[in-house]
Amino acid sequence: MPFTLPELPYPEAALEPSVDALTMNIHRTKHHKAYVDNLNKALDGQSAYASWSIEEICVGTASMPDAIKGAVRNNGGGHFNHSLFWQVMCPKGSGGAPSAPLAAAISAAFGAHDQFKAQLADAGVKRFGSGWSWLIRKTDGGLAITSTPNQDNPLMKGLVDVLGTPLLGVDVWEHAYYLKYQNRRADYLTAWWDVVNWNEVNRRYGA
Ligand code: MN
Repeated sequence: MPFTLPELPYPEAALEPSVDALTMNIHRTKHHKAYVDNLNKALDGQSAYASWSIEEICVGTASMPDAIKGAVRNNGGGHFNHSLFWQVMCPKGSGGAPSAPLAAAISAAFGAHDQFKAQLADAGVKRFGSGWSWLIRKTDGGLAITSTPNQDNPLMKGLVDVLGTPLLGVDVWEHAYYLKYQNRRADYLTAWWDVVNWNEVNRRYGA
């Protein structure tokens, strides 16, 4: 079953002014679509993976044949990461707040909420080139902030330093912010907090 480009759960302009409508349009209909198309191309005829979810594909990428491993890493990661990204954002004012259990876990791992936000943003600012900054639930249950290059993500066994379940992720590729923020990645990350969908992060933490 080929993978498909998901619809946004809100209009393209709904995240203004943090994320502008033109960036949302190009980001999903061009960049994300290319990841979906190229993932489907890489998996075409690979019947062993026909029933795998995108999560299973990310976890198992390192075990795949060399002929497709690189394409699946980049494009399967790209599909998973962007699908999550659209879900963990929502219009300003509608994202709620961390649930009591998540707030307690954040406090235990990072201290005050502002320190947590600073650490996640810092991981994004310091990511050289393109990549992602993540809040993850590690295999031992604790929370961690991590960063991955390109379209890697914390599900990718054997390919990334810190494994875990992504709860929240922010795209720090230039295509995610350049039209509005140009080189000012830190400004994009500051404005991005206004559109974080904590209700969705809470759901992922509880799942
Ligand atoms: Mn992107």
